[in-house]
Parts: sequence; C-alpha cells; structure tokens
Amino acid sequence: MESKIKIILCGDVEGKFNTFFNKIENINKKSGPFDLVLCVGNFFGINNKEFDDYKKGIKKVSVPTYVLGPNKEEALDLFNEETELCQNVSYLGKRGLYITTNGVKIAYLSGISSQNKTTKDFNFSLEEILALKDVCVKDNHDYRGVDILLTSQWPNKVNNLTKDEINVQNGSDFISWLAMQLKPRYHICGLEGIHYERSPYRINPKDSSLFSTVTRFIGLDRVGNPQKHKWIYALQLKPVDKMNEMEFSQKTTDETEAPYDLNDIENKILPPTVKRKHESQQYFYDMNAPSETKKEKRNNKKQKIDFDKSKCWFCLSSPSVEKHLIITVGTNVYVALAKGGIVEEHLLICPVQHYQSAIHLSDDTLDEIEAFKDAITKFYGRNDQVPVFFERNFKTSHMQVQCVPIPKEAQKELSEIFQDEAEGHGFKLEELDDSNRLNQVVSSSSPYFFLELPSGRKFYTRIQKSKDFPINFGREVLASGPILDKMNRIEWKDCILNREEEDLLVKNLRKEFEPFDVIDS
Ligand SMILES: [Zn+2]
Repeated sequence: MESKIKIILCGDVEGKFNTFFNKIENINKKSGPFDLVLCVGNFFGINNKEFDDYKKGIKKVSVPTYVLGPNKEEALDLFNEETELCQNVSYLGKRGLYITTNGVKIAYLSGISSQNKTTKDFNFSLEEILALKDVCVKDNHDYRGVDILLTSQWPNKVNNLTKDEINVQNGSDFISWLAMQLKPRYHICGLEGIHYERSPYRINPKDSSLFSTVTRFIGLDRVGNPQKHKWIYALQLKPVDKMNEMEFSQKTTDETEAPYDLNDIENKILPPTVKRKHESQQYFYDMNAPSETKKEKRNNKKQKIDFDKSKCWFCLSSPSVEKHLIITVGTNVYVALAKGGIVEEHLLICPVQHYQSAIHLSDDTLDEIEAFKDAITKFYGRNDQVPVFFERNFKTSHMQVQCVPIPKEAQKELSEIFQDEAEGHGFKLEELDDSNRLNQVVSSSSPYFFLELPSGRKFYTRIQKSKDFPINFGREVLASGPILDKMNRIEWKDCILNREEEDLLVKNLRKEFEPFDVIDS
C-alpha cells in the first residue's frame, strides 16, 4: 500500500482554469487524497484571465500540479524562466525524468516536433529526444521502463494493429520512437482533442526476460469538452521498479504487439550522422558532421551545453576534468579538491556521470553521496571542524556538493546567519524537514540552492529571479566575520593555487583522507 501513489492525468486545460481546478478539487475530496496532477497539451489558451485569481492566491490549488510546456509561439511568454506558475502549479521543463519519493518514474517531453527545417523554441529536436532516452534508460539489461511518459504530441501510428479509427492531425515519429525506447507503462498525450485508450501493447512479447513492460496509451481530450470528462484519468501506481514477476506477466485478452516499427522509424528520423551502436544500444550525435547547414549549426549551439560532455570540467570521463585534483573515486561519485577553495580542505562531491543536479540522481548515487558526506564529516572532525554542505543548481551544468569545514564553535548561530544573509538578498531559505526530500519541493527543471548545516538541518530556496541570485551565496556567507572571517576569499578565481601547490595539497589530502574513505561493500 505505502508504495503506491495516486495520480490524476489531464488533457489540455486551454485556459479553462476554473473548470479544471474545480474538477480536481471534487475528485480529490471524493476519491483522494491524490499525490499529483499531471497535465499534457496546452495548459494556457487564448484567454487566460481565470488564472489571475490563482496567481494572486485568491483561489488555491490543493494538489501539486505539473504541466508540460508550450506548443505554440503565443504560449512561449507565459512560461518564461520561472517554473512555478502559481502556488502548487509548476512547469516541468522541456524534458526530463521526474522521480517521486516512492520511486514512480515520470518521463516528460514538452512541445512538438518541427514540421519543417526551421525550429522554434517550442519544438523539440532529435538531440533532445536522444538525451531524454539517455537520462531514462541507464542500464539496458535491467531496464524495465518508466511508469509514465508525458508528451503533448501524439506518436504516429498508435492505432496500428487495432481496428480503431482515429483521426490524428499531427502525430510524430519521434514520439513513437521515444515510446519504444522508454517503455512507459502509461503513455499520455493531449493536443488532438480526442479521447482514445488503446488496447495495451507489449514491446517485446517474445522476450524471454520476465520483465517485459506493457504500455497503455491514453490520449486525453480538452478540458470542458462535453463528453463525460474524458479529459481526466485517475490512476493508482506502484513503481515499475518495485513490481514483481506476477505483476509483469499479467496479460489482458486484447493485448497486442507494439504498433510502431522501430527499424522503419529509425530509417526516417535518424540522420546518418547518428550512428547506432547495436551492441550497446547507445546513440551518439556527431556534431562535426560535414552536411550541417549554417542554420542547423546555430540551432545545435544551444543544445551543446547539454551534449558536449568532453568540455565538462566535472565529468570523470571528460578530457577537460582536472584529474590531478581528485582525492578519491567511488562507484558513482568522486571527491575532488575544489579549485580555488575558500579554505585548504574545501572539497567537492560530484557524480562520475554527467547530471545537472541532485534532483536527477538515482537513489544509489544519492546514498553514496550521503556515505561520502559522513566520511568527510569524520575527516574534518579530526581537526575539530564540522562541515557545511551546499549545492547550487544554477549556472552549473554538472552537479557538485560543496563541502567546507568550519570551526566547531562557529556553528552556533549558523542557521540565523544564513537566513539573515538570504533575507538581505531578498529571498528566503525554507527548511526541508526530514519527511520531505528535495525532489518533492523543487521540480526537476527549477534552479535552486540547497544547504545542509553541521546540525543536519537542511534548507533550500527555489531561485525565482535568476538575475538577482548571488552566485557566490554559499561562499559569501561562510567567508563572513562570524564564521570563517575570510572576506577576501569569496570569489574562487581569486583563490586559485598554482599547479605545484595544487599537486602538493592533493597529495597530502589523499593520504590524510584514506583512513576515512568510503569502502565499497
Ligand atoms: Zn559533466
């Protein structure tokens, strides 16, 4: 029971916020409480004035609601950079994987594919689809699927192998491909103004492995369409990763094979520059392909931030990583000396692979980070020091936990000092109590600052107005008089050692850290 989660899925709201939120309220009272509401399709419509009351807080939203992003030019401005659209309503972001506390995996892709050569901000690209696949499908042998895939746009040919006649205006082969790769248990779409529930299909019916996922495709209608609420679908889910053999093998009489022909789709959508490595099922994109036009090159530039991991300073496999700063390497994470640290033993804990923030990490990796935090706490303890940990998911592309030792006696009024400083900058640090996890309070695309004090108290803030957030916030507070009193060491660039100094420091740290290191069990 406790591992189940109750979710409401919803089609295009199209600006009919009163109808939508009232309906959710009623369902929640009658058959709730629900944990989440997920919306596909157009959340905003031509007229959005009903939203004002929710924005102002005159009307309240009772169930945390997550929506997909824009599908047309006019809606672009309504999403902006801010992820919180009003209290309890968040924009999920362009694409990603959202994992609930009990492990339900929700993959999502906003927008629609481009109809022609030009791409707009509401179009997703091939690279984004490939990246989303990489984020979701970590290990092919154990991969069972995601619980839910949200795409506003429909897949092409979803009604293949059925006798259903449906009239889909704008299906996409990219979405069909994604559904084949991600193996969602539920694939939810909007935009077409059609309600359609396909008979379930199994991607590998002949697969000898016990865990072959069955997908249920559900297309949802627009909010308020006079049909009997076919714009809403309620679900109770146990995470796919916690299901047993029995639950996987259950078949319905109307089950079919997959409607999509993977080879056919790949011939159409994958350009020759994306080479498929059959043995490992990995995809990579060759950025230097000679056939690129100038325009395409420009469009690729934006994506490059995500893709050119060879330039990432923190990916362990990247040639740009400064290997001489590494103290120790675990299974999924490593510890390094912070370049230009505020004090000599300022360390970083980073995932080995490229992840943007803690929100995107697997439980295994998070557990390992905790183990390294414990080790570092003991390590600092040898000098009567205690650690302050912080993470800034803002203007960083690779997740880093900053670990800074402070004298034991400096921890007394630490939380007050941090809160005061935050207030001085015009934002508030919220406390994260033990019953909550960070991914419950910030959405996967939201920039945030996270802080953990030596007492174990945790604080966070969602970065709302990115222009105003002080990029050095953590360092700035720690450098202040009552704590470290090193005001000349706020900016890391001012603190960089030369190579010989770094080498020497790391050599000593490696030796000193060894007795405290996390040992692989
Ligand atoms: Zn990286």
